[in-house]
Amino acid sequence: MTSDSIRTTFLDFFRSKGHEIVPSAPIVIKNDPTLLFTNAGMNQFKDFFLGNREPGHRRVADTQKCLRVSGKHNDLEEVGVDTYHHTMFEMLGNWSFGDYFKKEAISWSWELLTGVYKIPKDRIYVTVFGGDKAEGLAMDEEAQDLWKQHVDADRILHGNKKDNFWEMGDTGPCGPCSEIHMDCRTDVERLAVDGKTLVNADHPQVIEIWNIVFMQFNRLKDGRLEPLPARHVDTGMGFERLVRVLQGKQSNYDTDVFSGTIARTERLTGKTYTGDDSKVSVAFRVIADHIRAIGFTIADGQLPSNTGAGYVIRRILRRAVRYYYSYLDYKQPLLHQLMDGLADQFAGVFPELKAQVEFVTKVVKEEEDAFLRTLEKGLKKMEDIVGEAGAVRATATVIDGKAAFELYDTYGFPFDLTKLIASENGLGVDEKGFAAEMALQKERSRAATALDTDDWVVLNNEGGSRFIGYDSLETVTGVSRYRKIKAKNKESFQIVLETTPFYAESGGQVGDTGLLTFGEEAIPVEDTKKENNLTIQFVPRLPEVLDGPVLAQVDPELRKATAVHHTATHLLHAALRKVLGTHVAQKGSLVNAEYLRFDFSHFAKVTDAEIAEVEAIVNQKIRENIPVMIREMPKDEAVAMGAMALFGEKYGDRVRVVIIDPSYSIELCGGTHVGSTGELGFFKVTAESAVAAGVRRVEAVAGPASERYLNGQLGVVKAVREQLKNAKDPVAALESLLQEHAEVKKRLERLEAKQLAALSRELAAGAVAVGDVRFVGAVVDVPSADALKKVCFDLKPLLEAAYVVVLAAAIEGKASVAVMIDEALVTGRGWEAPKWIKERVAPLISGGGGGQKSLATAGGQDTSKLAAVIEAVRAAIQ
Ligand code: ATP
Ligand code: MG
Repeated sequence: MTSDSIRTTFLDFFRSKGHEIVPSAPIVIKNDPTLLFTNAGMNQFKDFFLGNREPGHRRVADTQKCLRVSGKHNDLEEVGVDTYHHTMFEMLGNWSFGDYFKKEAISWSWELLTGVYKIPKDRIYVTVFGGDKAEGLAMDEEAQDLWKQHVDADRILHGNKKDNFWEMGDTGPCGPCSEIHMDCRTDVERLAVDGKTLVNADHPQVIEIWNIVFMQFNRLKDGRLEPLPARHVDTGMGFERLVRVLQGKQSNYDTDVFSGTIARTERLTGKTYTGDDSKVSVAFRVIADHIRAIGFTIADGQLPSNTGAGYVIRRILRRAVRYYYSYLDYKQPLLHQLMDGLADQFAGVFPELKAQVEFVTKVVKEEEDAFLRTLEKGLKKMEDIVGEAGAVRATATVIDGKAAFELYDTYGFPFDLTKLIASENGLGVDEKGFAAEMALQKERSRAATALDTDDWVVLNNEGGSRFIGYDSLETVTGVSRYRKIKAKNKESFQIVLETTPFYAESGGQVGDTGLLTFGEEAIPVEDTKKENNLTIQFVPRLPEVLDGPVLAQVDPELRKATAVHHTATHLLHAALRKVLGTHVAQKGSLVNAEYLRFDFSHFAKVTDAEIAEVEAIVNQKIRENIPVMIREMPKDEAVAMGAMALFGEKYGDRVRVVIIDPSYSIELCGGTHVGSTGELGFFKVTAESAVAAGVRRVEAVAGPASERYLNGQLGVVKAVREQLKNAKDPVAALESLLQEHAEVKKRLERLEAKQLAALSRELAAGAVAVGDVRFVGAVVDVPSADALKKVCFDLKPLLEAAYVVVLAAAIEGKASVAVMIDEALVTGRGWEAPKWIKERVAPLISGGGGGQKSLATAGGQDTSKLAAVIEAVRAAIQ
């Protein structure tokens, strides 16, 4: 069976059991402060489990792209070293939202594995939750009895809380679970050691493939469990592990999920994958694994960056680069060359990568280039460190922890690479010191971002924070829950209303601000954000009385100015696609009352002419005063209409579609908009720049903001015009002014040169004999220190041999001195201009200087002793 047909079989099986098949949610999570990435199939359904939202269908199945590289579930260090943990993997799952429970979940899993996939029953073990005293939870008798109807009793094992009680994160839905484990060892091995003893013991051939969670609790912040409103089923089966079992392989990497990428890597690097535990094999596995995580997260809209989710992607990418650089001996960018093959392989399941493969490839190549440069610098640094340590080999045989940490932190060197290079040079590394530096760093970043959130205090559980802000900007409602938060030692509060007119930050549009009035007491709403499906108002304090009616009012002006920019963003997006091409896809956006910012994929700078064309189209659409139509419809219908299908919509029955002339702009969007385009008044692009490889940024203004912007620009023109004495044509006036300026400057320079030449002649005529030396010493009037030097040069040909010149001048309140000595005297008598400057001149003028032996200059603060300077040099000759 190919991996594709294994996946299809799973989905078909659950379709036949009344499940709706839904698409995978994006890997990158948007509205959940507790998670950066989807780490389990259930994430996108969290609201259904918590009862915050009603599902469209009570039975659902899918394959979900998951990433386990941060937070509670982090497998990164295992990946590639073992053969069954991935960064990104597909989780096949079936769900019941308050519908069927343990009985069906257990018997269907058995039917699928043994009846449909035909896995031998004597290779399967199942586990049930054995209870936990501390939590006050009993063992799961119900699940055990149900399993007994299918499996021999001695193949049913009891598990502890760690393995058999599943939790998504520190808080949230959770419950006891049953795992299904596969014994993939040979018959000989199985006879020798009872498989039972190897379950959940990290044996590479006895692995968990499916976890069936019976969701019945919500974990609170203080650790307590509270029962969920309804009971649910949440299952997750590792697709790559299932494929390996069904294809009879010893390693996930030997299946057709990875073999294509591995073969391509072999061709590119000229190395061979043997599947053993060597670093070369680990490198192959790391690359085959990481390329998927990198490709799919970028396709889901997350660019590598220095913070948050973007930083996690950057680290995964760098880990892959280090492995091919160090162990496959490949010193140029490799990963981007594998992207095409990967996109083709998954085009049928996750078309988002194929659709953007050119863009993703470009981003990856740029990252690889940059990191390879850093890596090379790091290796040089490493050489220095090794060299230094070598120089003091007698005392130091260890690279200190600080240096190792700098290599890690600044150059992306993992500790094991540092250790390897060190040991090749007969050195050790201070592991304790490194760990201490690492702990310090962790503490620093924790302190910087720590957000302490209390549990919700629920006043009224009915109110699901219904959003009415598309139609109304104020309402009288009640508080449904609130909690205290603490960030950077500052306390504030979050309030959820029963109904709310406040728009929560999303889709680039900033959250609304406004007022909550409780009786006489008005509290400002400083921001509004979404957490899953709850709209949360941020307030600095709580009112005296919380449980009465509250008047909720959005700041109407800010909201209007923001809506203007959101509608403008849609007009801009469509215009960019018209002018630049349909490869233009949104990569990020910010919409607020001041301006809009729009990031999109495009490979070249947008020229002034293109910008002008875009502006013209948008302003034309504004003048057409097109009504902005907003419709809710099933997602498929929207896509069929030609809506720009932004990959990355969560599963939900209906989508909101914003239409501005069906032949011009149709977008899926949850934002707030104006009634018709005329309200934008005028649109103007204010900036164009690059943000990342293949991503450009345009900033623009519309509505009152564009009026302010234009007035600002016109103000500048007016001021310039006034300076130009209200010339009719200020540009021509300015040009002629600049030309005049250049001519005057040239003339002045010529005049000065003439004057200096005259001065030189005069000085030469006044030269006197001091012993056998021709001496010129004078306080002169010149405009600059350069002019002083120039006079010296001019003097040279006018003086007979064996001369000494000293000129001093007061220039703009400061003393300036030049001393010139004939070369013959420099060689013949050992006289040196810098020495005289230092010893005789500098002290007199309170300054310093230097230069060539035959010509040196000095500058100083004191201009009162210029005549004394001349005498001091004359004295040096005598
Ligand atoms: P393990 O103990 O093997 O790490 P887990 O207990 O973390 O697994 P669950 O959180 O129950 O796994 O996830 C459900 C299923 O997803 C697992 O049974 C397994 O098949 C698969 N799975 C979990 N983590 C990974 C991973 N890092 N790579 C590939 N598959 C995974
Ligand atoms: Mg795990």
